Amino acid sequence: MTTASRPNQDVIRPDKDSALLAEENPFEAMMSRFDYAAQRLSLDPGLYKVLRAPEKQIIVSVPIVRDNGDVDVYTGYRVLYNTSRGPAKGGIRFDTAVTLDEVTALAAWMTWKCAVVNIPFGGAKGGVACDPFQLSNLELERITRRYTSAIIETLGPDSDVPAPDVNTNERVMAWIMDTYSMHKRHTVTAVVTGKPVEMGGSLGRREATGRGCMLVTREALKRLRMPVEGTRVAIQGFGNVGSVAAQLMENLGMRVVAVSDKSGGIYNPEGLRIRDILQHCRQRRFLSDYKDADHITNAELITLDCDVLVPAAMENVITSHNAKEIKARIICEGANGPTTANADKILEANGVFVIPDILANAGGVTVSYFEWVQDRAGYFWDEDTVNQRLERIMVEAFEEVASMAGRHGINLRIGAYMLAIERVAAVHRLRGMYA
Ligand code: GLU
Repeated sequence: MTTASRPNQDVIRPDKDSALLAEENPFEAMMSRFDYAAQRLSLDPGLYKVLRAPEKQIIVSVPIVRDNGDVDVYTGYRVLYNTSRGPAKGGIRFDTAVTLDEVTALAAWMTWKCAVVNIPFGGAKGGVACDPFQLSNLELERITRRYTSAIIETLGPDSDVPAPDVNTNERVMAWIMDTYSMHKRHTVTAVVTGKPVEMGGSLGRREATGRGCMLVTREALKRLRMPVEGTRVAIQGFGNVGSVAAQLMENLGMRVVAVSDKSGGIYNPEGLRIRDILQHCRQRRFLSDYKDADHITNAELITLDCDVLVPAAMENVITSHNAKEIKARIICEGANGPTTANADKILEANGVFVIPDILANAGGVTVSYFEWVQDRAGYFWDEDTVNQRLERIMVEAFEEVASMAGRHGINLRIGAYMLAIERVAAVHRLRGMYA
């Protein structure tokens, strides 16, 4: 059995008192922003009730035979929050912290995210509560296939299209696509996105979330009349989002001064060499044993002296406890839900320009949309075409969110929610209520 040991996560998720636990409930975090934006939009009471309720919540048991012959049973979830604008879209995560509340909040965020970038999808999310670092590849494959077959009725290119999320990747998507296709008795590539390119994946999909973060950060710097060259960036999380954002930001001329993973962070005020660090991590090594830089904790990275902070790991890393210590002028939310609603207030009072998750990390689902379009057309684009179309969508969404925020004198997060809620509400009004 091949397992990777998992470093202590306490640095990212410190012990919580009860007030902080309440602040960090992801569904409450989503709802408090939704309520405020809905109120600013004077959303009618009927639609308000409809948009607050998830359309479908599925809980399944996922039994598997472990490599040693024991049987273990995991719990899997899939939540379709709202599908008025199109098929449900959103990732599947494998993590010990997965709960129905978390998956529901993330499904709602997907709904708003797809609307912000104006792609024709609703929002969904799924997950299995498990520790993938304690499971062999074969066990992960069994969990993935059993989970897929348990939720198979919801899946389909026209109904619900999963993608990678925390601790899932192209390989997991390939298993989902194969399991679904075996049930259907023919190959259905468009049932998942984020697949390997060899089997219907899109060029540029793997890099898309990090690329989107780079693009909106560039737009924010322009808007704030700050230079790109030499801008100091600190990035929490060196997975698919953080590592790509780091490389692309460095390519643009920014100075990436700190990056971190679960094992801790590394810091060099003169700028890190991202290529070297990527090489180090490719050998399945953690940043804590990287030699060529000072070592810092994840908590220290968040409050580091820098211009741009990119939280690209997990939820709730910027809370009322550390928000006032943040020195960055711009926060680009690569992760979903990294900032609590209480922290938002502190950041706003301190003049921090927050590019909200539902805009900042929407590059991933945007290229997922491109992948789904390519699969359905059976015609594949070159990488430049993918990247140019992604850039056009991200820049336009940034402009639309900023102009909504400007018109209403609110921050970008509420501007993004307002834009999204308005788009989803418009479709509900046109479609009317089926009874
Ligand atoms: N899991 C990613 C997200 O949170 C991508 C979702 C997708 O491509 O469907 O945006």
